[in-house]
This record gives sequence, C-alpha cells and structure tokens, in this order.
Amino acid sequence: DTIGENLARTVASHADRDAVVERATGRRWTYDQFSADVDAVALGLRGLGVGKGDRVGIWAPNCAEWMLVQYATARLGAILVNINPAYRVHELEFVLNQSGVRTLVAAPAFKTSDYAAMIEEVGPRCAALTDVLLLGSDAWEALLETGRAADRTVLTAIGAELSPDDPINIQYTSGTTGFPKGATLSHHNILNNGFFVGELCGYDEEDRICVPVPFYHCFGMVMCNLAATSHGACVVIPAPAFEAKATLEAAAAERCTSLYGVPTMFIAMLDEPSAGTLDLSCLRTGIMAGSPCPVEVMKQVIDRLGMAEVTICYGMTETSPVSTQTRAGDSLDRRVSTVGTVHPHLEVKVVDPVTGVTVPRGTPGEFCTRGYSVMLGYWDEPDRTAEVIDAARWMRTGDLAVMDEDGYLGITGRIKDMVIRGGENVYPREVEEFLYTHPDILDAQVIGVPDEKYGEELMAWVRLREGAPELTADALREFCRGWLAHFKIPRYVHVVDAFPMTVTGKIRKVQMRAEAVDILG
Ligand code: ATP
Ligand code: MG
Repeated sequence: DTIGENLARTVASHADRDAVVERATGRRWTYDQFSADVDAVALGLRGLGVGKGDRVGIWAPNCAEWMLVQYATARLGAILVNINPAYRVHELEFVLNQSGVRTLVAAPAFKTSDYAAMIEEVGPRCAALTDVLLLGSDAWEALLETGRAADRTVLTAIGAELSPDDPINIQYTSGTTGFPKGATLSHHNILNNGFFVGELCGYDEEDRICVPVPFYHCFGMVMCNLAATSHGACVVIPAPAFEAKATLEAAAAERCTSLYGVPTMFIAMLDEPSAGTLDLSCLRTGIMAGSPCPVEVMKQVIDRLGMAEVTICYGMTETSPVSTQTRAGDSLDRRVSTVGTVHPHLEVKVVDPVTGVTVPRGTPGEFCTRGYSVMLGYWDEPDRTAEVIDAARWMRTGDLAVMDEDGYLGITGRIKDMVIRGGENVYPREVEEFLYTHPDILDAQVIGVPDEKYGEELMAWVRLREGAPELTADALREFCRGWLAHFKIPRYVHVVDAFPMTVTGKIRKVQMRAEAVDILG
C-alpha cells in the first residue's frame, strides 16, 4: 500500500473515531474529518502545481497541520522534506537547497525564532523555492478553501499513478555526530515500519498516543503518526514542543494509553512535581528510544508512570527508523539491558567494524541491518550512500552492539563515542549506568578527552539533583572505586545544568568533546 491507500482503509473502518487532538488549541479531528482535510491540503497544493516527486518542505513545531501536510504530500506522491524547528538561517538555507524544496509550508514563528523573516532572508538564495505558505496566513486559508471546493475524486486518479517504492520523504538525521544527512525514504519504508511498531505496541482503535517528541523526526512522524493511523489509534499533541507538565496533563486529560519520549524527556517528566498528583492510570504502554535508557529511569517509568508494557526501540533515520524493539512480554531485565530483538521481516548482523566479518554472539561489533526498512539512499549523495549501504543492501549503522544467545541486542555505544584509554576500550554507557546509582546525580554523560599519556582520558559531565552538595572529582572517583575497573573511572568531573542537545533530545557528545578541550585548557 501507499500511505494514502492505508489511510483510506483506516477511514473506511474507523470514520468516527478520534484521529488527532491538539491540546494547545483544543481542536480535534475524527478520521473522517482528518482525511477530508488531508485531501483539501493535497488538492490545494496541487492547485499550486505540486505533483509527484516535487519537494515540499515543512518547518513547524508539532501541530495538526504538520500531520495534514505529511499525509497530503504522500497522497500526491510529492516528497516531504522535514525541517528541524531549531534550525538557524544557514541550516535552513542548506536544507532547502540540498533537497530543492519548491513549496515550503512553515509556522510564522516559533519560540524566539521569526521563521517568516528567516525565510524572507534565504528566499532569494533558494532557486527552486517558488511558494511559501505560512500557517494561519490568508494564503494558507485560501489554499484550504480551494482544496475543499475541488473535486476529491481527482486524487483517486493521482493515487493510481503512485508506487509504494516512490521516494516520498527526506528526513535529515539528528546531526548528533556531525552534519545532518538527508535520508530518502519511500511509502514502503516508513509505512511498514510504523505499522510494525504499532503491532508490537498492540495498538488498536482504543489507543491514544501522547506525543511530545517532534514530528519532524522519525520518532514522531513514523513511530507515532504512521503507527497510529495504520491502526485507527488517536494522536494526542500535548504542546508545540516538549514540556514535561503539559505532556503529563495531556496524557491524563485525554486518557492516553501510550506515552512517548527520549530518556531525557522521561527524566524530566519523572522530576515534574505534578507527576504524583495526576491520574495516569490510563497509561499502559509507550516507547522510549533515541538514546540509551538508564536502568533507574526505566524502573521508575514502569512503577511511577504505570507504563507496564513500555517498550524500547532502537533504530536510525536511515532505517525508517526501527530495527529492534522489546516485546510486551519481555522481562524487566531484558527491557533495561537490551533494545529487544529484530523487528518482523528484517535481518540483522553484528560484524567486526574493520573486517566486516560477523562476530560470535556476546562479542561487541557494528550493528548492520537489511530489509524493507533500509532507505533508498542519502538525497543527492551517492558517495555517502555507498559508504553506509553495501552492494548486498546491508546498512552499516555506526553503532556498537552485542547479540546474546537468544537474539536480544544490546547497544554499547556509537563507534565514534567509544573511548580508548591506554589501549583499553571503554564504553561510556557502562560508566554512565554506574554514575546513575549515585544518590546526588540526576543525569550523567561520559566522554573521552585527549590525554598525552593514555591517548584518551575519561571525563564525566553530571547534572546534580536540586539541593545536592558540591561534587568533586575526588569524591566521585572514591564512589567508583571498587565498583569500576580503574581504567573506567573518570579522571575529570564537570558539573553542568544541562548538556548540549539536539532538538530530538540527543546529547551532542561532539560538542561536549570540543567544549571539554577548552575547559581543561
Ligand atoms: P547523525 O547521524 O546526524 O549524527 P543521529 O545518528 O543521532 O545523528 P538519528 O537517526 O536521529 O540521528 O539517531 C539514530 C541513532 O540514535 C542511532 O544510530 C543510535 O546511535 C541512537 N539510538 C537510537 N535508539 C537508541 C536506543 N534505544 N539505545 C541507544 N541508542 C539509540
Ligand atoms: Mg546517525
């Protein structure tokens, strides 16, 4: 199926069920209403000349229109280009030009960014850009009106010309390890992935998913939106961007059954005073993904938020994104120490990063995957594509993993983040897990910093709990002694209020390493 065909199927069986709820404005759509508005946006865009293969950019925080544009472009076979809400002028310009965006739909402003002014500034430098539609503007309203008045059956003929393997989406990676890359994805890639995520979460039309993670990223757009619409479930948008309090309030008020977040979001939600006073008994499941989940956080998500069936997903933008997921029946231990087993219809292998030979179970190596989920390629970058996808279509993830005898995979870090201290490989993740057990530490991140004697030394950046006493490097080292091998004990400690992060909530260790060099002089 294409995404349009799949949505039509859901509408046919769930026309009167809720599809989308936007808390900030109180607006709601049933599936019938949602699909009518999707068609109106599609026909309106078509009126501007948008057709199959044309790039349509969307630059907005989470809102219902984001979803309308997502499904409308898929309906036309146009290629949706997700633009990160945190981008500054030069990043916006890069993405618009790299993907050749023709039509840009954007919020007029977000937080302290005046999007309209930024678009005006880059416009003359973006040759392909012919139309800009600001959400809420007269032009946007006119587009909706034209679309509503147009003949919907035209879309049936357009749909007949589409193939599930057409490219329909360019998603730029988070930029955690460097400059973002534009993963090009098809209906087949992301619809199947969203569907299987929904299957493993056990979604049906009774489910309501609270989504504080950004739509511009695959976590929101695929693992929430496509998982929901392929199962007749409802998407609840708590706020334009993540806020712990608004998210928990939305989950309680809308009787959500599922709640999403990256670990740092769950840490903030658990730290939110209202968590204890809201009735969250409706929550059954949810997804935590994007970066490693500390054991303590997982335990509290289950105990305090009541998300007994919460699952962990592992994946990357380039693989639609999910490759592995824990199952509802997995033991707590498996759910905290692994990222689950391979998703249906995919293959995985763990290889020696240098030789490419599969390593024995229990040995760390590079995680590789193959199957329907592997992207078509990086947009307009065949060389970079060839670096990560080999001739047999195996995708190299750049992540280190270990597979146990039962096929459960553990992610031990990114190849780029591994620290080699005096010839010993240190996986920062292991040290971080231990630091979490310190009563005064709220969050901890470990990086390698250059060292003359050992090549690299370990540095821990920590966020302390409110009211905690000062923490010295000596005290922390003392705490680690006897529990961690000497070469895994951080030499330096740096206390911070926040870590440098991407909008997807990932910690930018590249930036930490650069700052560390300055801090250590
Ligand atoms: P860039 O590729 O631009 O540096 P990025 O890799 O962070 O950024 P994404 O595609 O958003 O961009 O993230 C995928 C990465 O996130 C994976 O390669 C992996 O390192 C990490 N990741 C995702 N899920 C998990 C998880 N459950 N546990 C640990 N790490 C995870
Ligand atoms: Mg990546």
